[in-house]
Amino acid sequence: MSDYPDKETIDSLLEFAAHAGASKVKRLPPESVCVEDGLAAFCREPKCPHWGQSMSCPPHVSGPEGMRKLLQSCKHAIVIRIEIQSSSLHGEDRPEVMRLLHEITAEIEAEAKRLGFPESVGFAGGSCKQSFCRDYPTCRVIGEHGSCRHPEHARSSMSGYGVNVGELMKSAGWSTNLFPSNSNDEEEQLSWVAGLVLLR
Ligand code: SF4
Repeated sequence: MSDYPDKETIDSLLEFAAHAGASKVKRLPPESVCVEDGLAAFCREPKCPHWGQSMSCPPHVSGPEGMRKLLQSCKHAIVIRIEIQSSSLHGEDRPEVMRLLHEITAEIEAEAKRLGFPESVGFAGGSCKQSFCRDYPTCRVIGEHGSCRHPEHARSSMSGYGVNVGELMKSAGWSTNLFPSNSNDEEEQLSWVAGLVLLR
């Protein structure tokens, strides 16, 4: 017997996510997504170097208020984690790692739409300007009033919406530790990046 609505469809989506490259994936009830105004405010003060540089970051996104509205119409939250060597989280590899996160999140969002949640929306992390458009002087939407160069892959960052990613990890039952420790636990040797798809 199903322990929540749509379980068969969700199981299929979770399987898809694992094949798409998510190291871990879990369905959570939407009320598990904790949104805090103060976290979104960190994008502005102390100012993130990517603040205002793309349409997917503040002040160009609807922020915590927009996220709360989305959650009201959300049936399931799919949390994704990609585990990586901690060295990849910094330096030259970072834009590519974050690009992969955007791409996997967008693929899962597209599959969710196909499976009957047509208004699904995915959120990644980091600046899409850095991961997709760093060779251009500006985001095309902001600088040229044009369309996004990568609409099929670039997604907004959870940070700008005030999502408490640490709480998401805890709700999923996963470690929150971003940096390797001396622990022998394999999970503790890896770092991670996370994404979120709201099924609507
Ligand atoms: S054009 Fe580039 S920087 Fe602007 S939203 Fe799209 S991917 Fe991001």
